[in-house]
Order: sequence, then C-alpha cells, then structure tokens
Amino acid sequence: MRQISTNLPHLENTDFGKISGLLKVPGKILITTHTSPDGDAIGASLALFGYLVKKNHHVKVMIPDPDPTFLHWMPFHEHLMIFSKDQERCLAAINDAELIFCVDYNGLNRLSDASEYIRKSDATKILIDHHVQPEQNFDLKISETKTSSTSELIYDFIAASGDSHLIDKDIAECIYTGIITDTGSFSYACNYEKTFLITAALHRTGMDGEHIHRLVYDTYSENRLRLLGYSISEKLVVLPDYNAAYISLSKKDLDKFDHQIGDTEGIVNYALSIKDINLAALFTERDDLVKVSLRSKGNFSVNEVARKFFNGGGHANAAGANCYISLEETIRIFLSMLPQYKDQLKKVY
Ligand code: 5GP
Ligand code: MN
Repeated sequence: MRQISTNLPHLENTDFGKISGLLKVPGKILITTHTSPDGDAIGASLALFGYLVKKNHHVKVMIPDPDPTFLHWMPFHEHLMIFSKDQERCLAAINDAELIFCVDYNGLNRLSDASEYIRKSDATKILIDHHVQPEQNFDLKISETKTSSTSELIYDFIAASGDSHLIDKDIAECIYTGIITDTGSFSYACNYEKTFLITAALHRTGMDGEHIHRLVYDTYSENRLRLLGYSISEKLVVLPDYNAAYISLSKKDLDKFDHQIGDTEGIVNYALSIKDINLAALFTERDDLVKVSLRSKGNFSVNEVARKFFNGGGHANAAGANCYISLEETIRIFLSMLPQYKDQLKKVY
C-alpha cells in the first residue's frame, strides 16, 4: 500500500523504538485482548496478528471469552483461541510466549480468569492501548488516548515500522472494523484528521467499507432488535433533574429475547441520544455480576465515575465496570452518586 503522510508524533514518546527492536528477529508472540471483546479489541488483535505473521513471527492470539457473532466474519478469526473454552491450548500459548501483546485494555484484571496466568508469565508484556490511566505492570508501552481506537494505533505502529506496504485487504478490514466500532461509525472519538487519512488509505487496499458496515451493523437477529425496542420503550428511565438516563436489563428481560453475546452492545447510546441527557448508563444482569456501561457528552468524565463508584474504568466519554453485587444495589449506587454531579451534568460543553 502507498505510504500516506500521517503524522505520528505520539509514537516518539512511547517505547515504539524498543518494541520495534524486539521484533527484528522472529519470536514466539501471544496477542491478548480484554474480556467481552468488542470490534476494536478483535480488530486490533487480528490486524496485529496478520502483520506479525507476515513478519515471520510465530503468533498466537487469545481472547478471554467469546466475541459476538457479528465479528465472526473477520479475517484471521479462525485463529482466535478462547480462554474460557480452550484453557489448555491457551495456557500452552502463554507458557510458550516470549512477547505478550496486551491490546485495547489498560489493566491485567481485564483478562478475567486469564489475568493471573499472564501476570505470572516471564514474557515481555507490551501494551498497545488508548484507554486512560494504564496500569504500570507492562514492560513496554504504546499508550495514546488521542486516537479513535487501538486499531488505529496498530496502523500507526505498522506505518512507523516502515511496513505500510504490508497492510493488505485483510489487515485493512480488521483495522477499519476497529475504527468504525469504536467511533460509532465516525460520530465520536474521531476529531482527528489522521483517522480519516488512515481510513482513506485502508480503502486503497480494495477494502469495501460499505460491505463491512453491513456485516457489523445489519446482521441483527430479530430478537436483538426487539430487545433494543423493549429497552427503549419499557426500560428507559429519564432523570431530567440530573441530565441523566439509564436502562436496566435483568436476566429475566434478557431471557425473554433469547439474549446472545453482544446483543446489548450499543443500547446505552440511545439513552445518551436524548437532548440534554449528558450521562447515560446501561446495567445488564449476568450470571454472577452486573455489567455497567457508562456514556457521557462533553467534559463529563464517566471514567471517573466508573473508577470511583464501580471499580471500573475506560475513557472520558465511554467507560464500564463489572459489579459483583445485585442489579438493585448497582442502580442504587448510581442514583445516590448523581446529586454530587448535578451541577457538572447541567453544562458539559
Ligand atoms: P462498554 O460499556 O462498551 O463495555 O465499555 C466502554 C469502555 O470502557 C470500553 O473502552 C471498555 O474497554 C472500558 N471498560 C469496560 N469495562 C471496564 C472495566 O471493568 N474496567 C476498565 N478499566 N475498563 C472497562
Ligand atoms: Mn478500543
């Protein structure tokens, strides 16, 4: 692919040089990403996989738990190993690895049951991520928050290595999927010229952006669409006094629509789409925990809220947490923290 002149100053202040040095000789590499993997987690991991294979490394890629079916079409997807389903093979890969890439997450606890094994591994741990406040237990880091996605950082990494020409249609599709899913199809986290230059360059590989959009967004099951409708018409609670809104989904609600992994993705954004609603939350009851998804507009940081009240984290405008308490208790905590943010939530721009 033709080299595009993207400005990559942020890589200069990272361990890019050292990481690049480690990749000069073929090695045994394991790529990992976070639990409940989304389009960026899978896109960044598989793009990096495709690139490192082309560089003659011995590469494995592991996810803690299964990804949603709307990502199963992705190139290299057949190479994903799932820790919760195939622990033996994953442990062998962890033991074997000389380098472990930690992609699209900022703390090892995001690996769920695989966390401890990665923590204990002697392999060099390399973070490539765009979340705020990364933990310190990575050996080398490319941590940049002013980017659309980790997938874009993978593009930057390949380009800065002088290897743009290795980005073929398959790798481009992975990067593009990560960019569109982490920006809500170019509606947030993408006020950067570079994101669009890269997107243009990806199309030059022959990648069909419209087709990818259809594969990711127009493959809902009827149940998933009806769950979305039910969430909005029956479960949305609007709190105009706090410029906030939330949706809670119990296991019973989810069972009614034969819930599958990924079916609740994106629902929280509808609550945020109401005029003057600056904070939105989705609480989803799972077997042993409640998944919290938080979104905000403007300068209101849901990362702070996720950290302070739910032991989670993420980005300034999109954060999450797993709470090992009841659904009712989780909602109670949310409602009780609102008054202290009342003034901040009134004016976010
Ligand atoms: P989502 O609501 O889509 O699950 O997550 C929103 C953002 O917050 C994503 O970037 C995700 O990686 C991050 N996130 C979700 N759950 C957690 C968590 O438990 N801890 C941290 N640190 N980040 C999270
Ligand atoms: Mn991401």
